[in-house]
Amino acid sequence: MSYSVFDLFKVGIGPSSSHTVGPMVAGGRFIAELKESGQFEQVTRVSARLHGSLAHTGKGHASDVAVLLGLGGNQPDTIDPADVTGIVEHIRGNGVLNLAGEKEILFTEPTDLIFDFEEVLPAHSNGMCLYAYGADGNELRSSRYYSIGGGFVANEEEMSADRVIAAPEVAIPYDYTTAEELLRMGEISDKTFPEMVFSNECAWASPNDVRAGLDNIWNTMRNCMERGMKAEGILPGGLDVKRRAKYLRQTLDSDIHRNAALPHECMDWISLWAIAVNEENASGGRIVTAPTNGAAGVIPAVIRYYEEMCPGADKIGIHDFLLAATAVGILIKLNASISGAEAGCQGEVGSACAMAAGGLAAALGGTNKQVENAAEIGLEHHLGMTCDPVGGLVQIPCIERNAMGAVKAINAASLALRGDGDHYVTLDAVIETMRQTGEDMQSKYKETSQGGLAVNVVAC
Ligand code: SF4
Repeated sequence: MSYSVFDLFKVGIGPSSSHTVGPMVAGGRFIAELKESGQFEQVTRVSARLHGSLAHTGKGHASDVAVLLGLGGNQPDTIDPADVTGIVEHIRGNGVLNLAGEKEILFTEPTDLIFDFEEVLPAHSNGMCLYAYGADGNELRSSRYYSIGGGFVANEEEMSADRVIAAPEVAIPYDYTTAEELLRMGEISDKTFPEMVFSNECAWASPNDVRAGLDNIWNTMRNCMERGMKAEGILPGGLDVKRRAKYLRQTLDSDIHRNAALPHECMDWISLWAIAVNEENASGGRIVTAPTNGAAGVIPAVIRYYEEMCPGADKIGIHDFLLAATAVGILIKLNASISGAEAGCQGEVGSACAMAAGGLAAALGGTNKQVENAAEIGLEHHLGMTCDPVGGLVQIPCIERNAMGAVKAINAASLALRGDGDHYVTLDAVIETMRQTGEDMQSKYKETSQGGLAVNVVAC
């Protein structure tokens, strides 16, 4: 099976792709199942149980809100983030849930939405069960879902068959599962990574639609960044983290006007762009998974660096960036994981850094071997990075970590572009190392907020 660029870069809302977007998608899938089975009309009550990492950091990641929104028939890509508070206040204030947006049923949140801290479901740490009951109180249906990172959701059957619903199954011209295969396909076809990924995308959509979709991804990322640079105040969740993108922008602008910019200020701009996106994510704003919400700032910051600071940058370069980043993201998703709950932060910010490094190298005209090398460097130097969000919120260390990941990605691309593409460690070897490291990592470092900074920095 393969994934599309539009699977990896999905428009949704913050703060988490696995803990917010995924549970919302699961709620929607449950509704669809009820309708398909003809049981929807009989439903008078629903309940949800969140397990594992979804229980441990679900509050901070708004997983409860996401389930309510999904059961209410809302979609992550179309819901207006400004409407979320009103919808949830209505449910909580009145004790009713507008199921699928079609019928109001009673909903008592303390008993109908449970965070189960004891049981971890077998297939993945981000497990959840949804139940529907009839008027006699008997269960009509129950379904188990896993939110496996990046907004991807799989049911029990899909997990056991290792088959995740993504882009519809079609024959694609470049069906690769390893970087080695992709490099070989490039040699035989004399095509670049972006050209091969573009050809694959055209198996699902027309070339014009693919290009329009890529423009939409970048426009949504850019709008998110602009909103982040204008907003001020405290991020929600209780840590009292002050938004700083606007202030950073002002100080950088004033340095330009005073002609006082130092050479390394280039890095501050990159950090600013990443931070702006991640502050929007932390406040539940409109976000593009890249490949997850927690790591959503890295790729936009590096694209903006390309767009504003690299001579000759153009729209096709941005498309090439996203397409090459997709090739890298697919390799990681197929062979390791992009989920913090599965692999720690190496799977989120590490993957985003590798994708951004490969994307930038491609946009700057790198050879396939240089693109692969850039991605490899980006991922290699995130190996072992744990996930330990303070207070279960996607704020500390996540926001700054994206800034670091973006700067590192540019460094990785630059190093690779100064070489001839020959290098010792392959991208495939690093991805496999990340998989093994993630497997060996204790669960307290995998999005449970039970280790690392989460226990050494006291949440207020
Ligand atoms: S520490 Fe990394 S993996 Fe964990 S929530 Fe933050 S960004 Fe995601």
